Amino acid sequence: MNTKFIFITGGVVSSLGKGITAASIGLLLKSRGLSVVNQKCDPYLNIDPGTMNPYQHGEVFVTEDGGETDLDLGHYERFTDVAVRKFNSTTAGKVYLAILDRERNGEYDGGTVQVVPHVTDEIQSRIMRAAEQTNPDIVITEIGGTVGDIESLPFIEAIRQIRYAVGKDRSVFIHLGLLPYLKECGEIKTKPMQHSVKELLGFGIQPDIIMCRSEKKLTQSVREKLSLFCNVDQDAIIENLTAKSIYEVPLMLEKAGLGKTICKLFHIEDTKPELTDWEKMLYTFYHPEKEITVALVGKYIELPDAYLSVSEALTAAGIYHKTNVKQIWIDAEKITSREEAEKQLKDVAAIIVPGGFGDRGVEGMVFTAEYARTKKIPYFGICLGMQVAVIEFARHVLHLENASSTEFQKHCEHPVIDLMPDQQGVNLGGTLRLGLCTCSINQNTLTEQIYKQHEIRERHRHRYEFNNIYRTQFEESEMTLAGINPERNLVEIIELKNHPWYVAVQFHPEFASRPNRPHPLFREFIGAAIKQAGV
Ligand code: GLN
Repeated sequence: MNTKFIFITGGVVSSLGKGITAASIGLLLKSRGLSVVNQKCDPYLNIDPGTMNPYQHGEVFVTEDGGETDLDLGHYERFTDVAVRKFNSTTAGKVYLAILDRERNGEYDGGTVQVVPHVTDEIQSRIMRAAEQTNPDIVITEIGGTVGDIESLPFIEAIRQIRYAVGKDRSVFIHLGLLPYLKECGEIKTKPMQHSVKELLGFGIQPDIIMCRSEKKLTQSVREKLSLFCNVDQDAIIENLTAKSIYEVPLMLEKAGLGKTICKLFHIEDTKPELTDWEKMLYTFYHPEKEITVALVGKYIELPDAYLSVSEALTAAGIYHKTNVKQIWIDAEKITSREEAEKQLKDVAAIIVPGGFGDRGVEGMVFTAEYARTKKIPYFGICLGMQVAVIEFARHVLHLENASSTEFQKHCEHPVIDLMPDQQGVNLGGTLRLGLCTCSINQNTLTEQIYKQHEIRERHRHRYEFNNIYRTQFEESEMTLAGINPERNLVEIIELKNHPWYVAVQFHPEFASRPNRPHPLFREFIGAAIKQAGV
């Protein structure tokens, strides 16, 4: 194995865009013909973000192999177009769980189990596993949190030891920090960054590259100061300005010399990166020919990160159509009646209802689905968005009054969405359907036209399913059951006949969408929205 390692740490403050930076590095190296894989270490004690409230953590990104991971892994996939896996996400929770399991099994032979070496060894073996599994040229590892946090210390020590093991030629440390600009004196300040680097040095790590988040361009004297006091060459001081769009970041970093500096540090030839596609995508994004408005009706709308992949997939579909997709996020709880649905949705070209858990806001989503169905507005339901569409249709078209999901109403009269018999009575924790599942697409459906395939594989993250007991009633109506999971005979896709565009899916297509290759469902949904808007 000859894999090289890049480690990215953060300093001064959090939320500097380490994830975007890591993803951008992936893209810049991949576009030089190198194989890459990104991974993230999160120092928190949850096993994964799967059980965290989206308000705490933003969206949970689902990998093909069913990992519930940090949303930064979504950035990695979108930027590098390399599928990440469960093991590309390490949390302190996973590390400790593995160690404590071993301890209980007596695998430490009566020894004392300690942070050093047991925790640090476990972290190292997890970081190395990403390299062993796919054997890429370069593994890019982002360390969550800010240097100096108590909880991230074992991670910092682990990467220090990796440098010791693989050597300088095969490891590069990048430290990303903030250079605040003080208006009063009109100056960029380097002291917080100097302190942050000192802190890192105190843990035995000398960064090779210092990446500076800054509002203003770095002056020569700032570069000199940082170079002198942080022991890095001037060409290794990389400016990371605030970009208009995250998709500009890789291009900006390339211009700032990041790709070249990494190649130099690794002693590899610096070839010209092939970024034409990416540049074209960004140009189209910045120069749309038209604009439409799409409503996203959900329950976590105060937090921009809660529906990150859905939002990115809508943007990507807009880029495909040279259209700016303006999203308005509507709180489902505020849609309390048909009139309210009409009032809030009357000006939008299309409606999307994304996934979610729990009953808050569900009735508002039902009103939304009804509005889209009856007013013939393009509707795209994802996971919960499909379940509410089924409930709405059951209540108002099939006259199954009080139809609902047993998630919201345990003993409802018509559980059109329910747990499958093999899930009944099982502990909730183990029953999510996660990761890629196969779906057969029926002929003569809109979905068939969209995918142009009869068998697809999409990522899932849900517990409840369309209840097959009601299947015939739906099939004999205006609703088409367009996609079925062949292994377990589960309804995966529904459509409405006599409607311009009404498609809802039990899976999450947003995770497979890419900025320059939107998912076909999003692409066609936005196409239908443009038609609807008549622009
Ligand atoms: N709460 C629903 C279920 O568990 C939908 C989940 C989702 O939208 N991701 O089936």
